[in-house]
Amino acid sequence: MSTSVTVFTCDMCDFKASGKIVWGRFYYQLSGSSLIPLERELGWCSSCKTLVPVERLSINNAIYDEIQSQKVDLTRYEAELLNLENRSFFIKRLMSSKKKEEIKKNIAYTQRVLKEKLELVNILSSRKTPPRCLICSSDEVISYKFPSISDDEPPEKRYLTGFIHPDCGGNIMISNSGIRLMIKMKSRAYSTEGVLIKEWYE
Ligand SMILES: [Zn+2]
Ligand SMILES: [Zn+2]
Repeated sequence: MSTSVTVFTCDMCDFKASGKIVWGRFYYQLSGSSLIPLERELGWCSSCKTLVPVERLSINNAIYDEIQSQKVDLTRYEAELLNLENRSFFIKRLMSSKKKEEIKKNIAYTQRVLKEKLELVNILSSRKTPPRCLICSSDEVISYKFPSISDDEPPEKRYLTGFIHPDCGGNIMISNSGIRLMIKMKSRAYSTEGVLIKEWYE
């Protein structure tokens, strides 16, 4: 799968940054070395002096909504499985076992996501330090909700993001680079206080 690359520029200087910086997989690593996906957003790092992925530490409603919806899914799959097991005597064995496997896979997946989300809430609620830059670990970061841009926009069209370039005062603009790239996913694991432990390609 290829993804189009977003570009950030400044209307007052030659600043340029790529939206590619937030690509990849980011995890918290727990003591048992299990990996919990963390939430990130694009922000400004005063130490990197550019746009970087920044940890999102707020336990927002979206996390609780997701936990709730995973719980609902889990209940539904378990009921389906029970239903199938009760009926399996009457329907073709092969069909039943295939369907059963599928439901069991769904249950395992849902349980895993649910566990990860609950673990994330745990990590975030006991977090001591402020959000960090996921590139250099500095906590001198400004989080900002940058707008997204549609893949169809031509590269010459630049839009205001509303973010002011620190130390420069210019407007940070967003546009499409017109370049599509195949993603080679980099994975990074951090301590639960947001300090980089290791990075690797999967
Ligand atoms: Zn600037
Ligand atoms: Zn940084």
